Amino acid sequence: MSFVFDELVGQEHIIDILKSAAADSRTGSESQEMTHAWLFTGPPGSGRSSAAVAFAQALICPNQGCGTCNECQSAVTGGHPDVEIIRTEGLSIKVEELRELLTRVAWAPSMGGWRIVVMEDADRLTESAANALLKAIEEPGTRTVWLLCAPTLHDVLPTIRSRCRHLQLRTPSIEAVTQVLIKRDNISPTMADFAARVSQGHIGRAKYLATNELVRSNRRVIMQLPLQLGSLAEAFLAAQTLVDIATEEATALSELRDEREIEKLQEAYGKGATGRGMATGAAKVVKELEKEQKSRATRLVRDSIDGALLDLATFYRDAMLIQVGTAEALINSDMQKQIESYAAKSISHSTINKVNAIIEAREKLAHNSAPLVTCEALMCQLARN
Ligand SMILES: [Zn+2]
Repeated sequence: MSFVFDELVGQEHIIDILKSAAADSRTGSESQEMTHAWLFTGPPGSGRSSAAVAFAQALICPNQGCGTCNECQSAVTGGHPDVEIIRTEGLSIKVEELRELLTRVAWAPSMGGWRIVVMEDADRLTESAANALLKAIEEPGTRTVWLLCAPTLHDVLPTIRSRCRHLQLRTPSIEAVTQVLIKRDNISPTMADFAARVSQGHIGRAKYLATNELVRSNRRVIMQLPLQLGSLAEAFLAAQTLVDIATEEATALSELRDEREIEKLQEAYGKGATGRGMATGAAKVVKELEKEQKSRATRLVRDSIDGALLDLATFYRDAMLIQVGTAEALINSDMQKQIESYAAKSISHSTINKVNAIIEAREKLAHNSAPLVTCEALMCQLARN
């Protein structure tokens, strides 16, 4: 059994720990492996939240995570009374939201086992929210298991991380991602190899790219930008192109989700209901949802720009490899000729500066700098020789 762990790619070193913890938690005895606060860290795309959710399933499933039973399935869809998956749409998790969550999970588990909270973005807790969470984690004798996820240990308050068992996920190898795309998603070997390579071990992104022609053609446009930076005017144009493409991609994604959510909410309140209380209640909740959606849309655009900048960085990374004479492991092997001719006209020192400029721009964006202005400044730097 324990099929839920099969979805985790390249994480064998932590799967064993999770499996034996789930087994221990079942025996009822004071277990070696089981503890009630866990912290999953790993780079984007390594699957830290998938690992946490799989562990939640293993804890509540009668077969230790078969993936097919009622318990396993309802845990993922949010229908299980003892499993809460907290996905943050906004930029932060505020203390009010956390208090509300604590009230919700204060009850004893309905099925007699564990009550489990998966928090996908523990790095977004505000300081006061983190302190409220800390108190809950420290509470003795509770049947609540906290599965927190964050990119790195440093993204979580030291007081919290010291009380959690820490599991570090790895970036899966390109080969491992390629195999999953071929076997699980029926993607052709050539496409799987391309998508795994350019996504650098980010499984979600690799699949998205492999199955979406528009995303691939957008990526091609982005990857041509370094070759079109002959003048400052072209640099400004390139910045606009990058921001436009990223925004368009993010908007398409969020519109789809927004519509579905509002529909679901209206259904829950009875669409077309005429009762006065019903109407004002629904209107208020829809308004709140729209506010959340707006903040998520902003975040998606930022994520999308960040993804485009990461792609751009791989161009200069490859150019650098060619300049120092090791061109075997190019990420963009499909563009080898173009990158070679770029590399021939420049020197490795200036290429390194360009990679650094991209890293700096990503950091600025992560700290809420204005996207277009940041990209314009970056493109002007990249246009310099
Ligand atoms: Zn199951």
